[in-house]
Amino acid sequence: MNNPNFTQSVLSQLPPLRHGQVWLVGAGPGDPGLLTLYALAGLAQADVVVHDALVSAPILGLAAPNALRVFAGKRGGRASVDQADIIGKLLEFAHQGLRVLRLKGGDPYMFGRGGEEVIALAERRVPFRVIPGITAGLGAMAAAFIPATFRGVNQAILFATGHCVGDPANSRLDWAAVAKLGQPIVLYMAVTRLAAIQRELLAGGMSPDMPAAIVHSATMQEQKVFVTTLQELDGGRSASVLIPPAIVIIGQIVAMRSRLMELLPLLREEVRLCPLLA
Ligand code: SAH
Repeated sequence: MNNPNFTQSVLSQLPPLRHGQVWLVGAGPGDPGLLTLYALAGLAQADVVVHDALVSAPILGLAAPNALRVFAGKRGGRASVDQADIIGKLLEFAHQGLRVLRLKGGDPYMFGRGGEEVIALAERRVPFRVIPGITAGLGAMAAAFIPATFRGVNQAILFATGHCVGDPANSRLDWAAVAKLGQPIVLYMAVTRLAAIQRELLAGGMSPDMPAAIVHSATMQEQKVFVTTLQELDGGRSASVLIPPAIVIIGQIVAMRSRLMELLPLLREEVRLCPLLA
C-alpha cells in the first residue's frame, strides 16, 4: 500500500467499539483478507475477544496483543461450551465495562446462534452492534470457482444445515420438496449426515448425475475442492475431502466450475493466497 496511514485513517472514521458494548461480528470463512473494516476495527479495539472454533488463527492474531482471548467454540455440532455460558460471559464482560468483540466464523446470523445472543443482550439492555461476515457457503463457492447464481442456470439458492437430516423429530425441512425445486443447495454441517441427505434427495427425484462439490477449509491454506455427482457424493474418493469444516454444494451451478477452470491457464494473474495465511 502506498500510504501506510490509509487503513488507519479509514478505520478511525468508523464508530468506535465502546466500553460496555458488544460487537457481534462475522469473521468470514478464514482468509483475513475477507474481513470487513468493522471486524478489523473491532479486533484493534477489543479488550476481550470471545471467539468460535472456526475463527482462523491468522484472524485472531490481528487482535490487540493484550486483548483477552476467550474460546467459546463448538465442534461437530456438540456443545463443548454451553450456549448459556457463552451468553453469561458476554453479559459479564459488558457489565464490567469492557469492549467486547464476539467473533463468529462466517456470518454471525447464519447457522451461528447469533440471534439468541443478540436477544439475550437486548433483554439485559446491553448495547450491541451486529456486523455481517462472508458466510462460508459464499466463501466456498467463490474459492471453488462456482458462481452463486448464473443467468439461465438458477433463479434461487438454498442455504441449509445438514445437521438434523435423518432425524424426523428435529428435521423440518422437506428434502423431497428441495429435490424438486431444481435450485442449488449449499449445505453446512453436513459431513456426518451426507449419506442421509443423498438418500433423501435421490428419493425426492433428483438425478444421480447432478453435479456436486465439496469444499474443505474454504479460503484457508488447507483448502481442498472435490467435484463429483450426487450419486458419488458420500464415501469412496470424496472421503479425503469430506472432513469438517466443509461446505457441500449440489446443483447444476457446480458445472460452471469446469468452464472457469478451463479458462484459468489463460489468465496471467496468479490466484494467490493472502500472505497473512502463510
Ligand atoms: N456462521 C457460519 C456457519 C456456522 S455452522 C457461516 O456463516 O459460515 C459451521 C459450518 O460452517 C461448518 O460445519 C461448515 O459446514 C461451515 N464452514 C465454516 N467455515 C468453513 C470453511 N472455512 N470451509 C468450509 N466450511 C466452513
